[in-house]
Amino acid sequence: MASGSTEGTAAGPDERRAELAASLDDLRARIVQASVQAGRNATDVVLIAVTKTFPLTDVRLLLELGVDDLGENRDQEAKAKAAQLASTDVRWHFLGQVQTNKARSVAAYAQCVHSVDRASLVDALQLALTRSGRDRLDVFIQVNLDGTSGRGGAAPGLVAGLADQIAGTAALRLRGVMTVAPLGAEPARAFGQLAEISQRLRHDHQAATDISAGMSGDFVSAIAAGATHLRIGSALLGPRGQVVS
Ligand SMILES: *Cc1c(COP(=O)(O)O)cnc(C)c1O
Repeated sequence: MASGSTEGTAAGPDERRAELAASLDDLRARIVQASVQAGRNATDVVLIAVTKTFPLTDVRLLLELGVDDLGENRDQEAKAKAAQLASTDVRWHFLGQVQTNKARSVAAYAQCVHSVDRASLVDALQLALTRSGRDRLDVFIQVNLDGTSGRGGAAPGLVAGLADQIAGTAALRLRGVMTVAPLGAEPARAFGQLAEISQRLRHDHQAATDISAGMSGDFVSAIAAGATHLRIGSALLGPRGQVVS
């Protein structure tokens, strides 16, 4: 388990490398174990290391340790890190709410946006891709399961319409559905609901088989419910300090 240094500055680079290597090994072992328990193949589960608030030095160490998929939730921070790592093969996953006026910025570095939740954002991302000359962006529809608005995510009843809209664009490729388990709720229940929504989605969108679910505290139950993309920060990098915005 990672512990201690929030920013990776207290430990020297070698110590931090060893710390990250150990927590990555541990995490991968837990993912394999949860997959076996669920009767699934661990190779069908993508680990996205959520590096938000952690420094570029940590990101580079993770790349050296073989992590290719990185997640961020704020455009400014993600953009800066992506610019520094432009010569690498890293895949950036954008996980946070995307303001429509940031769509163009996000679409310039992200391979995948997990937080598509409204029609205006679908339009903005497609337009951004057209303008930048890129021909493809993978997207997940974020589903809000806590019945309140404001924290991002589309109500379950809006998923089908958004999926049809995405399918009608030239450059957006629908991967599937994403959720953040509601606070205070049983994650297994939320992930079960998400799995049902995913099943329904596949009737009309057979290629949209992916499920982005599971964070540090609940990835075992997400794997049990069929998650294909885990978004894990603190279990890998340690506790986040104050989020400076
Ligand atoms: C921060 C974040 C994560 C990672 O959370 P941990 O609990 O640190 O694993 C996953 N998904 C989203 C959308 C996030 O914002």
